[in-house]
Amino acid sequence: MKIRISEVVSRIPRSGIRDFFEIVQSMQDVISLGIGEPDFATPWNIREAAIHSLERGRTGYTSNLGLPKFRRAISTYIKEHFGVSYEPLSEVLVSVGVSEALDIALRALLNPGDEVLYHEPCYVSYSPSIVLAGGVARAIPTKWEDNFVLKAVDVEKAITSRTRVLMLNFPTNPSGATISAEELERIAAVCVKHNLVVLTDEIYSELTYDGVLHHSIAAQPGMKARTVLLHGLSKAFAMTGWRIGFACGPAEIIEAMMKIHQYAILCAPTMGQEAGIEALERGATAVAAMRREYEMRRNVIVRSLNNMGLECFKPRGAFYVFPKVSSTGLSGRDFSMRLLKEYQVAVVPGDAFGATCGEHVRCSYATSLDQIKIAMARMAEFVNSLKS
Ligand code: PMP
Repeated sequence: MKIRISEVVSRIPRSGIRDFFEIVQSMQDVISLGIGEPDFATPWNIREAAIHSLERGRTGYTSNLGLPKFRRAISTYIKEHFGVSYEPLSEVLVSVGVSEALDIALRALLNPGDEVLYHEPCYVSYSPSIVLAGGVARAIPTKWEDNFVLKAVDVEKAITSRTRVLMLNFPTNPSGATISAEELERIAAVCVKHNLVVLTDEIYSELTYDGVLHHSIAAQPGMKARTVLLHGLSKAFAMTGWRIGFACGPAEIIEAMMKIHQYAILCAPTMGQEAGIEALERGATAVAAMRREYEMRRNVIVRSLNNMGLECFKPRGAFYVFPKVSSTGLSGRDFSMRLLKEYQVAVVPGDAFGATCGEHVRCSYATSLDQIKIAMARMAEFVNSLKS
């Protein structure tokens, strides 16, 4: 029997990361710098809050928008950390990770053929999520020379009469780029001028280094009314498996997102939401300790890459470095494949994050320092072997 799959879905490629990691899983003794996931377990007080809620039998659905107490905690946290006030009962929605929030925000906003701009390199889900929502994905390449920061002038150049949404992700996966308040102000002015809605994925906002402060475009004048701010617990709180994210934005957009969420998902996991209250209210000390550890690892990994002659800009956010490997004579993909097969170290080929990123590889430092040191020694040996 010939089964027909939706044409839109058929045209979407599988994630380049997934395919690569199927090879990794079939091998022994591999050190992986590939996964975008903290190596820490969720802090104990947060796990305990979930256990306690289970003990009290809180195992049912929550409101579609999420537990009111959690939404109040989100609103307080966002006000404190991002400087924007959201009404907890109408302007906040709890989702199954930022992944779901991205999907339903795009589906709530787009009509067929609407264009969405995003900066490249970027997280692997952006372009497929836009296409699945009926939109047209238009990447704005960011440059190595600009440390992968998006420039307002480049946003303005990319706008057409069909452009509806701009997606932002600072700190950025995979480059670790951060953006200044001044550049955000210029981008905000372009969005107001051209009447764009902004979807800003700030999932790495707590993870900034060298004293860099995180700024959200939602806090820029005139932006709250046209911005959906996405954040979640996966990264800074080491809670990837709990599947909790949230969206804050104008009530009208949150209501539209809620309609999709209520039919497709019903509600985010109740245990995760209970844990989320503890995370946002009493997680700061644990987050600060993990952040310090990432910063130290970043210093080690950047130094090692530079010592082996790979150009690597020093990222000031997230937990990735994105070195250029073209000086070895190999593309990012060939470099990753050979490093994996010959030296058992997994990094992700840059082209997984956009067609313009083929000279790069992504290394995650959400791995223990010991593992990072062994991986760097193996990588140095590999790079040396290419010189002879
Ligand atoms: N956005 C970015 C930029 C990410 O890197 C990731 C995870 N790698 C996500 C969203 C998805 O996160 P979540 O676990 O909240 O779905």
